[in-house]
Amino acid sequence: MRIVRYDGGRFGVATEAGIHDLIALIPEWTPATADSAYNLFIERYPLLQVEIEGRLSSPPDRSMTSVRLDAPVAPRQLLAAPRNFTAHQNEMKGHLTMGGGSPADLGFFLKATGCVVGPRDHVELPALPDRRFDYEGEVAFVIGREARSVTPADALQHIFGYTILIDMSMRMTETLREERVMRKSYHSFAPIGPWIVTADEIPDPSALHLRTWINGELRQDATLAELIVDIPALLAQASAVVTLQPGDVYATGTPAGVGPVEPGDAIAVEVSSIGRLELPVSQRAW
Ligand code: MN
Repeated sequence: MRIVRYDGGRFGVATEAGIHDLIALIPEWTPATADSAYNLFIERYPLLQVEIEGRLSSPPDRSMTSVRLDAPVAPRQLLAAPRNFTAHQNEMKGHLTMGGGSPADLGFFLKATGCVVGPRDHVELPALPDRRFDYEGEVAFVIGREARSVTPADALQHIFGYTILIDMSMRMTETLREERVMRKSYHSFAPIGPWIVTADEIPDPSALHLRTWINGELRQDATLAELIVDIPALLAQASAVVTLQPGDVYATGTPAGVGPVEPGDAIAVEVSSIGRLELPVSQRAW
């Protein structure tokens, strides 16, 4: 199923016919508790699935064109894998980096959850002349069941679904070497969407095929079979460090083909079995 959030925190299932609103399934939902109630929905989804499927035979509550899609997640934690494709490691060799190799030895890093935006927003670049801002198209998985020190063999059972994330990054310079968390956490530096595809529809995430276009020109093209550390191992490793909660998001790393964008550009990332996330790049007004 395609799980969407829209119009300021409502959520539902999107089908070809439209959106079936599901907030009535979570009694805790109010506009003020929309984020935590959505994560309760993710946690309770296995118990609600039959009820949801029953509702899909009724007419939808909204058309896709009558709503404004929000980011389909409200994560308490936003984790990300550094350099998880060999070809991307190689292209970064000419750049200043944090050192080290892959998630196998580096583990994960964090992005501030406040930089998440939705599929109808813009990537807004801060007015920092002479700095380079790169796109990184990535697949992200969403935790469905609390995970604490799980094994790779059990890891996929803890995944609610998959979505697309653009890990926007400000690069270091010879003299400016801010913390990675800050360089990757400017407002709008984590566009996510357009929806979550539930894990039952993606039994083998290593088969997912990711492509990124800048202004219509293909720049990234890889499958997740090329990940250095695969999704079960990423989840297991992180869950040995910190408890992963329903709704938490983990971006799995970007393939080769990363490069800078400027205001006026358009970034599009498409992943097989998931969909297409496309945003314009603009100059931040503040
Ligand atoms: Mn990344």
